[in-house]
Amino acid sequence: MAGLCLAPLLSRQGHNITVIEKRSVDGSSLEEVNPINVTINASGREILKGLGILDNVKDVAVALTHRQAHHGNGEQAIQEYEPTTSGWLLSVKRSDLHALLRSNARNEGTILEYNTKLLSCRADGEALTLSTSGAFQRRYFDLIVGADGASSMVRQNLLQRQRITCALNFLPWRYANFAINAEECDKQSLNLKHLHIWSDEGVLGVGIPNCDGSISALLIFRDNSAQADVDAMHKGIKRILGRYPNLSRWLRPLLKSSSPSIGRFLEVTLDRWYVGRIVTVGDACHAMYPFCGLGLNTAFEDVVELTRALGKFSDLHVALRRYDVLRRPAAELAQTKSRLQFSFLQDLIPGSLYSVESSQGTLRSSG
Ligand SMILES: Cc1cc2nc3c(=O)[nH]c(=O)nc-3n(C[C@H](O)[C@H](O)[C@H](O)COP(=O)(O)OP(=O)(O)OC[C@H]3O[C@@H](n4cnc5c(N)ncnc54)[C@H](O)[C@@H]3O)c2cc1C
Repeated sequence: MAGLCLAPLLSRQGHNITVIEKRSVDGSSLEEVNPINVTINASGREILKGLGILDNVKDVAVALTHRQAHHGNGEQAIQEYEPTTSGWLLSVKRSDLHALLRSNARNEGTILEYNTKLLSCRADGEALTLSTSGAFQRRYFDLIVGADGASSMVRQNLLQRQRITCALNFLPWRYANFAINAEECDKQSLNLKHLHIWSDEGVLGVGIPNCDGSISALLIFRDNSAQADVDAMHKGIKRILGRYPNLSRWLRPLLKSSSPSIGRFLEVTLDRWYVGRIVTVGDACHAMYPFCGLGLNTAFEDVVELTRALGKFSDLHVALRRYDVLRRPAAELAQTKSRLQFSFLQDLIPGSLYSVESSQGTLRSSG
């Protein structure tokens, strides 16, 4: 998604932009990979406003004002994100956001090439090897921006060219998706302006409301094994159902499924984000654990800073270095907040709600 945000910004500077995407044009496949909504914070909203699509995003989003921890005995702790609308989060379906970014990029002159997979790129000659429906092609560009996510092929090529340190850190926890339909949310009076948290030892449920009154949720469970362990997931489900039996209907499909889709939490650190005419943005250079909802928002901030640097410095090396120097510390801070937030989430029951303040990076507790 960072690529679709960057493209129109660079088009406005007079560049000809091509976005290469291995998926089909239909963004609905995004929900198959990651059905939970993405949340947009104040910084992300400002960037969408600059793109001219904030109102369109609001039309298909839910504003989240609070976080609500359910304690299982009918008690709950509720915490306002921040007492002003600037602290609210917009919860939006990935395919809806993708569609808006896509049509905006197209309107601003970006060429979008779908079903086209990047196989390799060379930092010296900037040649890309691409595959479209089994046919190979070599293409040349003045600048290659790797906005290709946590398993970035562009990053792999950077690492081959230069002595750059890259670390991939996996949490010993995994996640599976579940959903609560609108009727049940209504019956259980689940507030649709709140992010919901259910937890017990070694397991967490995090639910985010959708526009249609339903809630999409993650079941997050401790799993130390090298391969996803379905038994660890079953153990987590049984444990959480002991405390929250009313989640039974929604978690049962996960118990029954013989091959449930189980995801891993990955953090990527890279001590240099560019080489030659190749640069990375977003998850490609700083994937983070998703507990603060900062990953995409930070990726959007990257593309704004990259655009600014490219507009300011005619020397490409100077522009990319400037971008790298400004954005790497900001991404590291977001990664730290995300890591800390997970520790606090684990401590939720019984006890207080904690948050990591977005502006200063300081910690706060309440309740
Ligand atoms: C469970 C979960 C919940 C999250 N919730 C939030 C949230 O609430 N708020 C938030 O800000 N962030 C959230 N995130 C993080 C957010 O999803 C990512 O940070 C964000 O999607 C990163 O954007 P990106 O453009 O860098 O990468 P991606 O969105 O992963 O986009 C990369 C694109 O590159 C394409 N691609 C990859 N390889 C190739 C190739 N070889 N050739 C061609 N195309 C290729 C992919 O198909 C994809 O479309 C969450 C993440 C997870 C896992």
